Amino acid sequence: MSQLRFFEYACPYCQARQRFPELARGKRGRCSVCQAVFVLPKEVPIATGTL
Ligand SMILES: [Zn+2]
Repeated sequence: MSQLRFFEYACPYCQARQRFPELARGKRGRCSVCQAVFVLPKEVPIATGTL
């Protein structure tokens, strides 16, 4: 139950991909690049790109 997973999501403002914990879905997240605050989608496909 303590396994913390992350999903990848691109900032809607600067398009910077970042990782957010699954627990943050549906909540506010902040971009570490442009400091913008946005709501993380509850359903988002996991990107399979290089990081
Ligand atoms: Zn950003």
